[in-house]
Amino acid sequence: MESLTILVTGASRGIGRAIALRFAKEGYHIAITANSDKEGLETVQQEILSMQATCQTFLADAGSYTDMKSVITQLIKVWGHIDILVNNAGIASLGLFTDLSPKDYSNIITTDLLSVLHCCHIAVPFMVSRRRGNIINISSVWGLVGASCEAAYSAAKGGVNSFTKALAKELAPSGIAVNALACGVIDTKMNRDHLSDDEILELSNEIPAGRFASPAEVADAVWQLAGNPAYLTGQVIAFDGGFL
Ligand code: NDP
Repeated sequence: MESLTILVTGASRGIGRAIALRFAKEGYHIAITANSDKEGLETVQQEILSMQATCQTFLADAGSYTDMKSVITQLIKVWGHIDILVNNAGIASLGLFTDLSPKDYSNIITTDLLSVLHCCHIAVPFMVSRRRGNIINISSVWGLVGASCEAAYSAAKGGVNSFTKALAKELAPSGIAVNALACGVIDTKMNRDHLSDDEILELSNEIPAGRFASPAEVADAVWQLAGNPAYLTGQVIAFDGGFL
């Protein structure tokens, strides 16, 4: 039986890494990308190889159509198909919207939203030709309700949520599922870089589950989502410990 394949963008650490490891455990062929974190990417590759799974790594900017075209073209050459695309690469920035420069917020929109459009635009024709595929976008609850001091990020993730629903309608006739997991607060570098220990405690107390989720828990949710019938499509599922 041919092995199933998955491409996870932004998988040199955090949520992307956990997703890649989860699917490696299940025997998938894994492709992972990062923009600049070569060392992280190589470490994750070693972890995957030690699980007797295969792994290809790419340094590629998910916000660049040219970079992602090259990645996906190479994967198709080697594997012949992509079964699962997880659009996970993303950046965050905390601060008043008016303190961001146009370059800053353009960068957030490019990395967090355009990247998703680019990867889908490139991968979808290969999925449609086989009438199978599964796209999972890692989004945020801030894309549902908006967050103060994360206005550009909220706009990008809100765009990801609407795009997920719209693309799902286009692709349902081809049997391809498109869903988003809108995460609450996950314990990764993204938060550790921005929050002090006191802020982490304060935020944890606001979450009914009483804590941040681990990247491994997100990966389990993605694994479950990928296992559903393609009829489950167009959903933006909040994964937030009851936060919203
Ligand atoms: P991390 O900062 O831990 O990891 C981000 C990953 O994305 C890294 O591998 C990074 O590699 C990569 N990346 C960033 N920019 C690009 C780019 N332009 N092209 C390719 N890769 C890129 O973040 P998380 O694991 O926490 O976040 C993963 C996703 O989950 C993001 O989309 C984020 O918005 C979303 N999310 C996270 C939440 C959280 O609480 N942590 C909550 C809600 C959503 P490199 O350094 O090389 O760029």
